[in-house]
Amino acid sequence: MEEKKEKILQIVLGMITFGIACVIDYFTSFSMLINFWIYLIPYLIVSYDSMKEGIEGIQEGDIFNENVLMLIASMGAMLIGFLRPEEPEFAEGIFVMLFFNVGELFEIIAEGKSEKSISTLMNIRPDYANLIHGENVEKVSPETVQIGDLIIVNPGEKVPLDGVIIEGSSNMNTIAVTGESVPRKVSIEDEIYSGFVNIDSVLKVKVTKTFEESTASKMIDLVKNASEKKSNHEKFIAKFSKYYTPAVIVLALLIAIIPSIITKDAITWVMRALTFLIVSCPCALVISVPLAYFGGIGAAAKRGILFKGSNCLEAINNLTTLIFDKTGTITQGVFEVTAVHPNELNEKELLHIAFHAEEHSSHPIAVSLVKGYREIQLEEDHCRIENVSELPGLGVKAKVNDEEVFVGNDKLMKEIGMEYKECHHVGTIIHIASREKYYGHIVISDKIKEDIQKAIDTFQKNHIKTIMLTGDRKSIAEDIAKKIGIEEYYAELLPQEKVEKVEKIMQDTNSKEMIGFVGDGMNDAPVLARSDIGISMGAIGSDSAIEASDVVLMNDNLNSIVDGMKIAKKTKQIAMENIIFSIVVKLVVLILASLGLANMWLAVFADVGVTVIAVLNSMRMLKNK
Ligand code: ADP
Ligand code: MG
Repeated sequence: MEEKKEKILQIVLGMITFGIACVIDYFTSFSMLINFWIYLIPYLIVSYDSMKEGIEGIQEGDIFNENVLMLIASMGAMLIGFLRPEEPEFAEGIFVMLFFNVGELFEIIAEGKSEKSISTLMNIRPDYANLIHGENVEKVSPETVQIGDLIIVNPGEKVPLDGVIIEGSSNMNTIAVTGESVPRKVSIEDEIYSGFVNIDSVLKVKVTKTFEESTASKMIDLVKNASEKKSNHEKFIAKFSKYYTPAVIVLALLIAIIPSIITKDAITWVMRALTFLIVSCPCALVISVPLAYFGGIGAAAKRGILFKGSNCLEAINNLTTLIFDKTGTITQGVFEVTAVHPNELNEKELLHIAFHAEEHSSHPIAVSLVKGYREIQLEEDHCRIENVSELPGLGVKAKVNDEEVFVGNDKLMKEIGMEYKECHHVGTIIHIASREKYYGHIVISDKIKEDIQKAIDTFQKNHIKTIMLTGDRKSIAEDIAKKIGIEEYYAELLPQEKVEKVEKIMQDTNSKEMIGFVGDGMNDAPVLARSDIGISMGAIGSDSAIEASDVVLMNDNLNSIVDGMKIAKKTKQIAMENIIFSIVVKLVVLILASLGLANMWLAVFADVGVTVIAVLNSMRMLKNK
């Protein structure tokens, strides 16, 4: 805001002193030299910033920055009186800088607005935490809270750090994080994330992540850094101004020198050259295109879709194939036990072993089995669990009371050379065995997400090919693919085989066609990282998914991808409009200027006018519903 006030002050002061200079000039008949000194005051006021920035630019090696261009042009106009005392151009010189300032003011306002829209989104940043200190509760800065500390979250307060509820139940407003407007019910043992707002009742929460590692901080970092990864549009503009500006300076020099020698009318041609310089200023592009991308990233973030860079926002426009992981992406990832088929043991004993082996895994299958078992098991047992390891795409292995236990699919059983019983039930079969004994299997089943059909239909309508990959059984994959109309599917894949499949698909398409992979980060982080556009779903709380992907969906809804694509399309359209509009107007005025049909006034209006229009156009992105 300070910057904006200073700019306004500068413009107003410049206008007042310029007015006074004009009045003095009009009512007196001082010599050109005295008038020069009088006009120099407003000139210095309006060009002060540009001089400072121009010098800084030159020091950084950026000789052709727009400040330098404007200064050369306006100083030229100020000095031309020395060549032609009867008709000086002081007013033009001052006006160039005055208008340039107006353009800059606009830029400051626009940037402020877009930053504000990101920071309202970033309102999720919590200010304090209510730390429990023995008997007392103390308001502290969330940075100082440590993992394992207990905090209180009152109704109406933001959740300051990620944690697990240990007392109370409530409804959470998650819109700032996930973009979902339906409140989320939470109770004991549920995880809640910083940026949620507690609606109903007091909660006691055990902190599981430090402030920096918590969801709100992560999201803010992600969006803030996103504008650093440039889109091709932005790269094009940077390159374009690099060649275009010096080229125009050379042209301006030629216009000033050659016709002057031929026609012996240096003044006219120097003025034309100066006009030419003003038009050459690429401000409109330099400001408006990144602003459009910034706006697009902000608009998406508001809906819980985080693009990690402008380049991702741009790439999604060229999506031709979307590959989906099954569990947690197409299905809910919430399994129900539909049958328990023990071998020798009883049902409860079989579930008990599976429970212990899975206790430390965060795979949806593990989470569901553990939750299911907790519901029947009441008292604490004293089993010892050691050496737990995940076998991606296969299952888990753990030492339960000194016995090595394997819990997983057919492939895992084959791997350890265990004979297993085939099961005629439909569903995902989870076998339980030690190295010596086959304990039996559990049949679990998952549901297809409710809103998925709409998303799949939309992709197909947009000619995006849909493919499903899964580590699960073929029969299940086939059933799901048929039900929702996915064109191709590949089943029983290990994580590495998923990568190979995606690589194969990428090889078979040309490099302009973007291949997206959608997964939840469970056993598919390598594919997320390998595909052109890795999209992670339900990424809230999952660091590995956030790390590996290019687009992060904070909610579980595939339709967010559709929304993200709409935003990307709109952003691209606005960026293109600005690029074409600015270049066309500049070219026209450049031609007019070199023909002597445009004077400095028109040039300034064209430059600032185009900038303002382009910036306003980009700002539509921020309002876009
Ligand atoms: P998807 O490809 O469907 O997302 P995953 O690659 O995560 O599934 O897992 C593939 C298969 O590996 C599962 O269907 C299951 O049979 C087995 N599996 C993976 N993790 C576990 C686990 N924690 N417990 C039991 N089985 C597992
Ligand atoms: Mg998966």
